[in-house]
Amino acid sequence: MNKECIHGLTETTCSICKAKSSPTVFFSAGGMRYHFDRNCRTFLEGRKKVVDGGGVNAPVESGPEHLVKIDRDRCHNCRA
Ligand SMILES: [Zn+2]
Ligand SMILES: [Zn+2]
Repeated sequence: MNKECIHGLTETTCSICKAKSSPTVFFSAGGMRYHFDRNCRTFLEGRKKVVDGGGVNAPVESGPEHLVKIDRDRCHNCRA
């Protein structure tokens, strides 16, 4: 049985509790991966490559991991 959280839901269905236990991660709008470290080398190198190729980087965005990971992959360099 799942424990009931303070909101009357279970910890796996309550979005408030999920957001609380979810770390903030960083990503750029055009990127396919998210990062736990905003200054992750892989992240910075990927952004540099865009500029070197004559492109413009999308701004860095952040959000709770459980939402961001729905359509992005976790970075293997800076996993928490
Ligand atoms: Zn809750
Ligand atoms: Zn990373």
